[in-house]
Amino acid sequence: MDEDRGKKKKNSGKELPNSRGNLETGIKGSRNSIKELMDALWREQTTNWPLMKKGYADLQQLLTKDISVNHIPFKAQHNPARIVSSTAKTDRESIAARPCFLCRHNLPAEQKGLLLLGRYIVLTNPFPIVERHFVIPSIDHIPQRLMGDEKDNGAKREQNGGQNSSQILNCGKQSRRQNSRQNGEENENENDHQILIGNSIEDMARLAELFSELLDIYFNGATCGASAPDHFHFQAGPQGALPLMEQHPKAPIIERDGGSIRLMEEQPRTILLLQANSISALCSLWSLLTEGLKEIEVSDDQLNLVLRHTEAKKWQLWVILRSKHRPECYFREGDEQFLCSPGVIDMSGIAVLPRPEDYSRITGTIWMQLMEEVSLPADKFHRLIELLKR
Ligand SMILES: [Zn+2]
Repeated sequence: MDEDRGKKKKNSGKELPNSRGNLETGIKGSRNSIKELMDALWREQTTNWPLMKKGYADLQQLLTKDISVNHIPFKAQHNPARIVSSTAKTDRESIAARPCFLCRHNLPAEQKGLLLLGRYIVLTNPFPIVERHFVIPSIDHIPQRLMGDEKDNGAKREQNGGQNSSQILNCGKQSRRQNSRQNGEENENENDHQILIGNSIEDMARLAELFSELLDIYFNGATCGASAPDHFHFQAGPQGALPLMEQHPKAPIIERDGGSIRLMEEQPRTILLLQANSISALCSLWSLLTEGLKEIEVSDDQLNLVLRHTEAKKWQLWVILRSKHRPECYFREGDEQFLCSPGVIDMSGIAVLPRPEDYSRITGTIWMQLMEEVSLPADKFHRLIELLKR
């Protein structure tokens, strides 16, 4: 199976089957053709895959209501189908005990996908929260990490290198250089042993550019919303679907050639907005931010990201900083329990509530307390801002 996958990967741009032989077509060409292919994928899956057809039909029937926090708009959505994701066990033992649902050989027989950048597959999400909700996993089973270090590098080599070395991916030119530096003499044949490590932001930016004016790209940190922390993946949803992205940022706290970092307006969340005119400028701002995050001991597990590309504003990356995954009320029992497991979509303004009792009692005050609890403490956030200004 692994050998077969390796051969198929080299033929990116042609048919890319999973074990059942039904994933198809790589993408080359203009953004228009990508939009057409995405439309075709969506139509095919909502027509011929019963689970997707039902998921999309159910989305149209969901109860929703507007709530506000300090005049900041949020939406609440009662989405019973999300109970599996909201209650998913993401501890190491539970993850190790289940088959990975993002690996190609475990996908449903009806599922089809589009290959992008030679290393990601766009899949429709049969349990959507937004219209045109996609999942974009790496074609390889590698951890949900954006920033790498020597320790991670070793772990990934151990995980991927032995059984799967012909398929291990690089992550753009910048990351290839990082890989070479970090692997050094240990890696005698770097073309055969590339490790996905370092700046996956670059991949995210390229995907956002492919979907310019069409879709935003989402990322959940491994301990803050990712239901498959063992398999690297993005999500995507329509531009305009998330309330946070329609709010105005404050004046820049940093301005550089080609980019800036801003705070968002009064928020119950800790959010920075990186704006950049090019992918290299975005990566430069991201490097600056990650240095600050290391100093305040916040890892890439503890964030949610949304990246948008438009012709007018180029790249906009919202960085939502987290202190923890689930609020205390998630773990209470009986009437005391409020079952909400915030990921990137919740933090961006859509409170996803699988249980009717939680949907009926959600208020702006409850949501504000919940957002504050899972966000970065104010003192840490201020320390980060001071570090960035230096
Ligand atoms: Zn996997």
